[in-house]
Amino acid sequence: MKLIFVSTPVGSLGSGVGGGVELSLYNAAQEMLRRGHQLQAIAPANSTRLDLPIVQIPGNYQPMAQNQERTEPIIMPENPVIANMWEYARQVQDDCDLIVNFAYDWLPFYLTPFFRKPIAHLVSMGSLTNAIDQIIPQIVKQFPGTVAFRTKTQAQTFGIEEECCYLSNGIDLSLYNFCLEPKKQLAWLGRIAPEKGLEDAVAAAQITNIPLKIMGRMQDNSYWEKICSDYPDAPIEYLGFLSTDKLQQVLRECQGLLMTHRWVEAFGNVVIESLACGVPVISYRRGGPGETVQDGVTGFLVEPDSVPGLVEAIARIDEINRYTCRQEAESKFSVQALGDRFEKWLYQILKIQ
Ligand code: UDP
Repeated sequence: MKLIFVSTPVGSLGSGVGGGVELSLYNAAQEMLRRGHQLQAIAPANSTRLDLPIVQIPGNYQPMAQNQERTEPIIMPENPVIANMWEYARQVQDDCDLIVNFAYDWLPFYLTPFFRKPIAHLVSMGSLTNAIDQIIPQIVKQFPGTVAFRTKTQAQTFGIEEECCYLSNGIDLSLYNFCLEPKKQLAWLGRIAPEKGLEDAVAAAQITNIPLKIMGRMQDNSYWEKICSDYPDAPIEYLGFLSTDKLQQVLRECQGLLMTHRWVEAFGNVVIESLACGVPVISYRRGGPGETVQDGVTGFLVEPDSVPGLVEAIARIDEINRYTCRQEAESKFSVQALGDRFEKWLYQILKIQ
């Protein structure tokens, strides 16, 4: 296939602003290229994933949907990078078979009927605004099979009843090393932002007095400062936004990963990164991790928003076999498994068998 991947318009590829979408696009692109497909990625200027064939497009970023009110109108800054990226895609569409949209934004859905080439949409978050809630089901109906979600739970937030494609993610497992004997420490990974619920993990670290290593992009400074002042004695350490290699070096030496999200996490890449290192996941039973973590096998699923639940699960973390975690990542979440799912989805859209 000749493919065009259009990246998220909230930040450049490699900046971390786009969260899991950045790794998702990168891994899917690498795997499609490895399989011999042709591919061009269109991303905002200053993208740093330069081992991909990227066309860098200037313009102003979109605001992040998770920072918007439900009823907020569709926002477009002047000289919007999203419009510039899609204008470029429109111009080069005849050189490709199919365009894949990675943006969680109203515009690419709206533009779908105006393109000559099919557009496949990979939806990366659950329901957040009324405008997106209205347009996604519309495209699901109008162009069956073209919209993929990460998990069933995520699709349900849009009230979608139709049979849809669920594309759980995959990672390059060779980049994550297994560690059998961890140090007495826990990990928390993600953007430092209210929807990620970091404060509950910090509260659990304070109660158990087990050091918590925090890694991820600082997105909301005042949120972070409030956590630090609310839990002055918690044994926490913020390590910054780390490269995949540095991240796995710290993560693999942890007893467990805490996932304390407040929102319906669509998938949670960090779950599979953790499993790849043999690190069990203690997660709220909410959103994607509720489907990717096997309770009592690859970690524990805890009642949402329950810090005592986290503490109880932390006490039982040694019951989880770390080899089983790595095996789970190998069997379900490798980049090859992702490639199989991704290819099948795109072939179905193009009706190629
Ligand atoms: N991540 C990273 N460095 C860090 C912490 C996180 O590169 O120090 C990446 C991680 O690999 C994952 C992404 O940030 O791909 C977070 O994605 P996830 O799906 O868990 O959440 P999202 O940010 O999309 O809501």
